[in-house]
Amino acid sequence: MIQDIGTGRFDNQYRNVKAKPGDTAIVFQGTCKRDDSILARLEWNGDAPDRAWLPTVGEVCQCGYAEEDFIYLFAIEDRRYFLLDRYSEALEGLEILTEGEDGYEFAGTRTLTKTEPMELGMAAITAYHLFDWYRINQFCGRCGGRMVHDAKERAMRCTCGCGNMVFPKICPACIIAVRNGDTVITSRYAGRAYRGRALLAGFCEIGETAEETVAREVMEEVGLKVKNITYYASQPWGVESDLLFGYYCDVDGSTEVHIDEEELAIAEWTPREVLAEELQDADCRTLTQTMLVAFMNSEI
Ligand SMILES: [Zn+2]
Repeated sequence: MIQDIGTGRFDNQYRNVKAKPGDTAIVFQGTCKRDDSILARLEWNGDAPDRAWLPTVGEVCQCGYAEEDFIYLFAIEDRRYFLLDRYSEALEGLEILTEGEDGYEFAGTRTLTKTEPMELGMAAITAYHLFDWYRINQFCGRCGGRMVHDAKERAMRCTCGCGNMVFPKICPACIIAVRNGDTVITSRYAGRAYRGRALLAGFCEIGETAEETVAREVMEEVGLKVKNITYYASQPWGVESDLLFGYYCDVDGSTEVHIDEEELAIAEWTPREVLAEELQDADCRTLTQTMLVAFMNSEI
């Protein structure tokens, strides 16, 4: 999966340190609307990029930004990643980097999760998670005052003395594989750009366990009762500020699917042999694909 870049390589402890020219610069298209495009240089193989590079702090500073404009994010081994501290202003001056055939471009964060090296995908979605959190916490939700970064830990602190501190927001959600013998429920979302085969999924509600989320979401989305709810694995997925928990379960009673048409376009019992045809080249970077392949291979 995308987080499997090697034990101990990813260090996300916050440090109050300044950027240097050789550090990696993470630059998102910084507008107040949701936009997860990241500045990257891509090497294309047909219509899909298969390799990516991110700019350095030094390169971005050539465009008129200063090293003080960057916030420390995390490190992967000895490479430090910094976020350009611009949330609501247009990113001006970047034409120097984006001109020409070999120039940088703003690419979707999800695009980087499919390219090499894999650590850039992990860096991109984790950086986006932090970027999104920083930009929605510029002002205090309690008193309206200006928020500033805490000096010691990853937290935003109100400057007006109301005492409000805001820590990074992580949204727990479940990815759910409902089994019935050699078949599993797969779905396609209604009204979303992603058209691939998905598993059932949903956010945990306040006050419920993850297992209760599984049972509730399956009933809401496809009208099925389930049993044998079993945890499989988790995945940080910063594109949606999520921490995903993967569960397998078995249908309990009727296997007749009743789709929630507002959420799903299709939900159907899918045999292992159909998955085997479709997923033979799967890179298993997402939890969904990893779970489908594990089911396909009768590993669970
Ligand atoms: Zn406040």
